[in-house]
Amino acid sequence: MMQQEFNIDDLSNEPRIKVVIRKRPVNKKEQAKSDVDIIEVKTGQSVIVKEMKQKVDLTKYVEEHLFNFDHAFGENCTNEEVYMTCVRPIVTAAFQRARVTCFAYGQTGSGKTHTMLGSVANRVPGMYVLASHDIFTALQRPQFSHLQIFVSFYEIYCGKLFDLLNDRQILHPREDGKQNINIIGLMEQRITNVDQLLKIIEFGMSARVTAQNSANTDSSRSHAILQIQLKEQNNVYGKISFIDLAGSERGADVIDQNKQTRKDGAEINKSLLALKECIRALDQGKNYTPFRGSKLTLVLKDSFTGNCRTVMIGNISPCQSSSEHTLNTLRYADRVKELKKPTNQDL
Ligand code: ADP
Ligand code: MG
Repeated sequence: MMQQEFNIDDLSNEPRIKVVIRKRPVNKKEQAKSDVDIIEVKTGQSVIVKEMKQKVDLTKYVEEHLFNFDHAFGENCTNEEVYMTCVRPIVTAAFQRARVTCFAYGQTGSGKTHTMLGSVANRVPGMYVLASHDIFTALQRPQFSHLQIFVSFYEIYCGKLFDLLNDRQILHPREDGKQNINIIGLMEQRITNVDQLLKIIEFGMSARVTAQNSANTDSSRSHAILQIQLKEQNNVYGKISFIDLAGSERGADVIDQNKQTRKDGAEINKSLLALKECIRALDQGKNYTPFRGSKLTLVLKDSFTGNCRTVMIGNISPCQSSSEHTLNTLRYADRVKELKKPTNQDL
């Protein structure tokens, strides 16, 4: 349950970009294989990877890698804690007319969907639902009671957009005269309560799963984008985008078996690199954002310019067997936003 009340006014000290890391618990399969937990989360900000290595003479040693982020969540933290710490502030900003974005980045199986969607079977709410509770609470205030909420849900697979709320119709983003990017024909469903959002998400998720069985796509190769718009009359007042990114390991699939997987991998790699460059441009206050670098960054153009905020949640698996992908995720997250390097005194 939500510990504190949603406070619209308090945005003091909130950075425009937050990069956080979330470690998931060791699962049964890993336990059964005696896979070792090599990740230590310290002081809520630092992550240490204890990578097992072997010298040429076969003696084993541990190499430690230390990273520092805006926040680091250990395996015992809940979706509520993640929400309260880093997502609620951007939902608040959307009520101050911002375009805000929350990304879940990480290898397949690291907890991206658990964070965003939660677990429907175990009734664990994720970011989508926790945010919508706050949204409908805010609408009870007179100052926001005129706002209407619209939801869209689509995925980007192999550089193409598919509407998850409309029979996987292929969509095309177009730039209008004011240089805004519009997705022509994208389904926008109005909702007036949290239950309606849940039904829409369930419907959209089933469109992802169906495609998985019928074609050679799977959800780890596509980016799922859930957008919640706050509208006043027909104008966008604020916008919240949640992006469950394709598995980051897929970007490295460029030397994989068949042609299609290679093509997918190259496309995913391109979009994850473009995403990093766009957030970096925002972080460094550059007046040029390379949003044309991929379909993903193109459709998110307004999230990288003007009144915008971004949260990147880097999800990591705890075990030795994932150390390479985990280090890649930590390095990626580290590059997105440069923070001061931690010293031993900080720990
Ligand atoms: P991804 O979307 O990154 O591929 P998932 O979110 O599907 O990964 O997570 C893989 C598995 O691990 C799922 O069964 C999920 O329920 C479980 N899991 C992930 N993160 C957590 C967590 N923080 N606590 C408990 N279980 C988790
Ligand atoms: Mg997933």
